[in-house]
Amino acid sequence: MNHQIYQDWLFEDAQDLSPLQAQSLQQHLEACEQCRSLSNAWHELETTLERDEMLLPAPGFTLRWQKRLEDSQRRIYRQQVVRSLSLIIAGLALLAGLMLAGLWPWLRSPSLLFYTWVYRVFSIYTFADALRNLASPLMNFSTRAVPLAAMVFGFGFLCELAVLWVVSFRLLTNPRRITL
Ligand SMILES: [Zn+2]
Repeated sequence: MNHQIYQDWLFEDAQDLSPLQAQSLQQHLEACEQCRSLSNAWHELETTLERDEMLLPAPGFTLRWQKRLEDSQRRIYRQQVVRSLSLIIAGLALLAGLMLAGLWPWLRSPSLLFYTWVYRVFSIYTFADALRNLASPLMNFSTRAVPLAAMVFGFGFLCELAVLWVVSFRLLTNPRRITL
């Protein structure tokens, strides 16, 4: 007996078989033990597969999965932000520490710092005063509208500001002091 044709039909979809083929297969299965057991095994397998297909992901699974992914991405982002911020804060702390170390001799003796500043301001004032004296004969001619005192005071003030700025900058950035 030729079983092959019936076994091929067994694995085909029932709807793909013609009524004649289906009938022929049915008759063969009733007569043939071997093909019947194969058919039973196949149907059992099919039932199992169908039952497994019903174990579909619960509704909203994709949404939950997506949410979990987003949560994890947000967590990673937050970690990166925290890490960057800590790095910046650590850098600032280090910078502050270096500046403090550089300024330590001055901070240890505030009076020295104070007198240094007084001396600098005084010398700047003296310099500005000398400059003012030098410039005043020239100014006397050219300015009648603006009071001379205001102009001289403004110029001296500007000079003092500029020199103060230079001195502060040097004091804070002098590498010799930072490497103390
Ligand atoms: Zn058979």
